[in-house]
Amino acid sequence: MSPAAEAFARLRAGDARRRTEFTVQKRRAVLKRLASEIRAREAEIMAALAADLGKPAVEVRISEIIPILSEIRHTSRHLKAWAGVRRVRPTLSMIGTRATIRPEPKGTVLILAPWNYPLCLALGPLVSAIAAGNAAVVKPSELAPATSALVAKIVAACLPEDLVAVVEGGVETATALLAQPFDHIFFTGSPAVGKVVMAAAAKTLASVTLELGGKSPVILGPDADLKKAARMVAWGKFQNAGQTCIAPDHVFVPRAQEAGFTKALRAEIARMYGARPQASRSFARLIGAKHFERVRGMVTEAVGHGATLITGGEAEAASRYLAPTVLTHVPADAALMREEIFGPVLPVIAYDDLGAVLAGIEAGEKPLALYVFARDRKLIARICAATTSGAVGVNVTLAHFLHLNLPFGGIGQSGLGAAHGRWGFQAFSHEKPVLENRFAVLDPLMPPYGKLSARLARL
Ligand code: NAD
Repeated sequence: MSPAAEAFARLRAGDARRRTEFTVQKRRAVLKRLASEIRAREAEIMAALAADLGKPAVEVRISEIIPILSEIRHTSRHLKAWAGVRRVRPTLSMIGTRATIRPEPKGTVLILAPWNYPLCLALGPLVSAIAAGNAAVVKPSELAPATSALVAKIVAACLPEDLVAVVEGGVETATALLAQPFDHIFFTGSPAVGKVVMAAAAKTLASVTLELGGKSPVILGPDADLKKAARMVAWGKFQNAGQTCIAPDHVFVPRAQEAGFTKALRAEIARMYGARPQASRSFARLIGAKHFERVRGMVTEAVGHGATLITGGEAEAASRYLAPTVLTHVPADAALMREEIFGPVLPVIAYDDLGAVLAGIEAGEKPLALYVFARDRKLIARICAATTSGAVGVNVTLAHFLHLNLPFGGIGQSGLGAAHGRWGFQAFSHEKPVLENRFAVLDPLMPPYGKLSARLARL
């Protein structure tokens, strides 16, 4: 048996028992153990992420450790209410019945994680899966090998082996896992692989949550506070060297504000990373040589076709360093404007007509996030109404990821379904309706059909 089949079979064997025995109290206890283990291994976590992504320690805490611990805290606090049986009122024709909704675990689920936030995006969904009462196989990304090994170590140290299995490996392992009849597949990664996952799920009709990527645009209104916008955009873009699914991909700025905004961006980059970002302890590296060449190649291509380099562009292949880079006049057909950039490169596009910008966004693939910087509430409402995206951030970037009372997910090419808090719990649950007949009069619905049936049919 392959490790994938073995892990699946081991967990599946416990489905029936878990359904009755894995109480809310026990789920909470498991989550508490996971939180303690993560806290105890903070130094190891920092070391693994430094090795994989050159991630600064503070960034690891903010974007990897705290989100998981917050998810555990929030989930534990609300789990009793989410998992409880809910009574619903009868509709008119159902008078005489008693109806409840009973959330139940889907069973044994699969979590496939990417490399960019390799701890948070492997263990975050696991919190929701356990909270909903499931067993889970987790496959971390092979492109972040130190973190992948650590995820396996953390899980083995604190979670029962009939509840969670970590199966490490690359595409072959993922393919073997996708061949197993999981009850739900939670995938975080690229839209291209998302399609592979959905096709595999179709074979067994497994439900899926797809947390994908894409190009998340930023729109500055004419009244935007340029300094504040530049600060937020620089933070959102250059955190993790731009390798963030909800990073601002490119910025649309009114032509009259273009120079002021790029000046403010340069100032913010210098404030965050100093005059030599390569020496900064706050700036991460690209994940691997292939990814580095892809992003650097996009910059070279754009500059070769007339783009103006405002700042950055310096690169060092050996350490996979690419400076925080800002460009203007990027041609619309350049790779930078067609593909998800996923690196520290920010095209700033001057616009004359907001309507054309909105129409362009609507004509393209639906973004995972859309950011607006403006003060005029009417303008903000217009942009919100005229575009579709996984989420909207107004005068802020990234932070909606941390708000656990908001669903997190994409739409269309950027994803399907939602994660975090209650939505994460629901993704891994089946909301089972239970209808009990007490004194409902349903006879008129049954043959032989009499006058009352005919009257009912006309209603
Ligand atoms: P990816 O799709 O290459 O890989 C994700 C996972 O799928 C990995 O575990 C990998 O081993 C596996 N995989 C890769 N190829 C496969 C195949 N052919 N068949 C089956 N499994 C396969 O994604 P990535 O490069 O790790 O991550 C970057 C992408 O993820 C970006 O597009 C980014 O926007 C997106 N992302 C989205 C979110 C979100 O929450 N929406 C978060 C982080 C990253």
